[in-house]
Amino acid sequence: MSQFLFPSKQNIHFVVNYRMVSEEEQPIFYRGAIYVNGTAHAAVGAATGFIVANNFQSSPTTTFLLVSLGTVSGLIPDLDIDGKLRGKITLSHKMFQTVGQLIGILMIIYSIYEATNTTRYLGIGIGLGLMAIASSIRQKHMLTITGIGVLAGGINLQEIWLMLLGVYILIASFVAHRSYTHSIVGILFVGFIASKLELSLGVEGVFYTCLIGYISHLITDSKLLPFNKRGIKLFLPLSSKEV
Ligand SMILES: [Zn+2]
Repeated sequence: MSQFLFPSKQNIHFVVNYRMVSEEEQPIFYRGAIYVNGTAHAAVGAATGFIVANNFQSSPTTTFLLVSLGTVSGLIPDLDIDGKLRGKITLSHKMFQTVGQLIGILMIIYSIYEATNTTRYLGIGIGLGLMAIASSIRQKHMLTITGIGVLAGGINLQEIWLMLLGVYILIASFVAHRSYTHSIVGILFVGFIASKLELSLGVEGVFYTCLIGYISHLITDSKLLPFNKRGIKLFLPLSSKEV
């Protein structure tokens, strides 16, 4: 956690770039608030997992799982970032890579423990493929390919949550920043994925961690926070008013 609060010079560089990509319209003086906001998504998501784990009195292993899921849930709304200003390795690339690699690793572990025979080897293969793709993400279309890979993994493992996560990543790679992934529709979609994931894992707290972690991102991006000039289009497709 301390590296979030007291980042190295390099981390600040990443975070500042993240903000420049995602909030390119903001005036320079807003960048003072940048890194609080840029890393807050991950930190608040992780904290959500920790609090939920405490509420359910989870084991250390489950606590670790929930903190990881909270972190991912706090980051995934920003898979919709369009990096028109890219050119350097920015945190958004780092984030795409991290999320993709994490999903690949989880798919391999899941395949080893839950699947058998051909499905297992196919699952491990797809997981390794995802990690390889994720490592080379520099452009938006690589995110589209990652979504297709996750969808393929879900079909292979017959896991509805994984198929829907693939669909989520696919959609996020096409929609405008702070639109559908930052809306009530997005919350409902991710809530459904999370409920299926909790059923599949049989671990209490997964649903609440993912849902609250996701919502925390939207609140942090909304105009509820006075330094956010730009809000989120919470009510899409009914209204595109920013809140
Ligand atoms: Zn966002």
